[in-house]
Amino acid sequence: MTSTLTPCPNFIGGEWQTPTGATTPVFNPSTGDVIAECPAGGLAEVNAAVEAAQAAFAAWRETPPVERARVFFRYRQLIEANFDQLCATVSREHGKTLAEARGSIYRGLENVEYACGVPTLLFGDTLENLARKVDCETYLQPLGVCAGITPFNFPAMVPLWMFPLAIACGNTFVLKPSEKVPLSAILLGQLLEQAGLPKGVFNIVHGGRPCVDALLTHPTVKAVSFVGSTPIAKYIYETGTKHGKRVQANGGAKNYIVIMPDADIPKTVEALSTAAFGCAGERCMAGSTALTVGKAAERLLPDLVAAARAIKVGRTDQPAPAAQPDMGPVITGQHRDRVLSLVASGEKEGAKVIADGRGVKVPEAPRGFYIGATIVDGIEANMTLAREEVFGPVLNVMRMADLDHAIAQANASSFGNGAAIFTNSGGAAREFKHRVKAGMVGINVGVPATMAMFPFTGWDESFFGDLHIQGKEAVQFYTQQKVVTSRWFGGDVGDVWKK
Ligand code: NAD
Repeated sequence: MTSTLTPCPNFIGGEWQTPTGATTPVFNPSTGDVIAECPAGGLAEVNAAVEAAQAAFAAWRETPPVERARVFFRYRQLIEANFDQLCATVSREHGKTLAEARGSIYRGLENVEYACGVPTLLFGDTLENLARKVDCETYLQPLGVCAGITPFNFPAMVPLWMFPLAIACGNTFVLKPSEKVPLSAILLGQLLEQAGLPKGVFNIVHGGRPCVDALLTHPTVKAVSFVGSTPIAKYIYETGTKHGKRVQANGGAKNYIVIMPDADIPKTVEALSTAAFGCAGERCMAGSTALTVGKAAERLLPDLVAAARAIKVGRTDQPAPAAQPDMGPVITGQHRDRVLSLVASGEKEGAKVIADGRGVKVPEAPRGFYIGATIVDGIEANMTLAREEVFGPVLNVMRMADLDHAIAQANASSFGNGAAIFTNSGGAAREFKHRVKAGMVGINVGVPATMAMFPFTGWDESFFGDLHIQGKEAVQFYTQQKVVTSRWFGGDVGDVWKK
């Protein structure tokens, strides 16, 4: 059944435009209903958006950083004032619980707050008397039109990782949100318009690959920020750089959590459940594999299995006072089927399902895309489940003889996003943080995702590029440095400084 559809317009040059033509369905994953039709844009829409962004750049780059920052101070207030609507939109189109939606929007909001500091973030360096009577100074200048291409799993937070800082640095921006979750981005655009951003500085174009290709090859686009799966991240990096653009492309992940025999078990169970099953496992920082060292498995697994079985799965699309579940659905029926087939592959290859969420039922929403929390024990390195990113509420358990083996297993991964250790031993933690091959490391922290002021430092197949998203690296990414060397001769004013 199709419910009343939510409009899904593009935003180009300050105008909200609903194109006619092909669309793709946007689901409410809690019910399986279609809630919107996302325009399948392409070259024409991208050309119009890039042209509008380029036209707006001349005035925007001349707007003093303090004035640009003021737009984001107002934006920050507007996001807070419209927080509940944003959370409800994220929950409805993505399936996050309201608590998860809140958390993700706070993470996004911190990026807006970081962007408010742009006048000092853009400070350059100076050196007097580089040579006698010669001074040197640096400036960080904007690039021009930047583009952002975002995934389905954080409909508001990931766009907020990109456009506030890019725009505060003096660039203009074209966002292409995931066609599975376009509605949160529209709301973010409406609030930015209300904050007083001049027309054309921020634009939204909806669609899939044709839109992406048009952005990657457009000669006016100077930089592309991407977040999504590894094969597409690689493609974005290769195609974008081939067309002369700066590219930062975050890819997929498979994150390991080492549990040492001396770990605090109740706290580890709590953190591991959140890391593995939070956001239904649809997080690039999900702790998807537990590496239990020695006797840790015997201490951990009974409580962990009980915690997984207690996780209540249900609809996330109903406003208060309706009870919220602990976990919502996954994004589509197709994605649920893929996750289920990966679990089946684990069983076929000899692993054992010790908490089984496959049969979960939500009677009031029988067509929703649900899977319950699932734990698969006895995973071996050569199994499909050990190698592929599952992106669902499935925790693998691999049993390790000692910390060396656990580190070797984590380091054998082609990815390098996050890794964590649970222990009470400073020595083990120190060894792990020093040797593990991952860009974000947690010590008794299950999801060591970085906040706005630190870069989101994926390594290996989890990142393609040089400068990461967020923090000072992102300021560098969205600006180019100019070094000015100056020397002054006498001139008309003569020796005024002597008077
Ligand atoms: P995806 O790669 O399928 O899609 C991401 C974006 O790329 C979307 O906007 C989509 O329209 C576009 N796209 C898809 N196929 C394309 C193609 N063939 N050519 C050009 N563009 C294409 O990713 P997803 O399923 O939306 O998101 C989940 C993935 O994102 C997971 O792998 C997850 O780990 C990853 N992710 C990574 C991070 C990180 O920071 N490393 C953060 C969030 C999500």
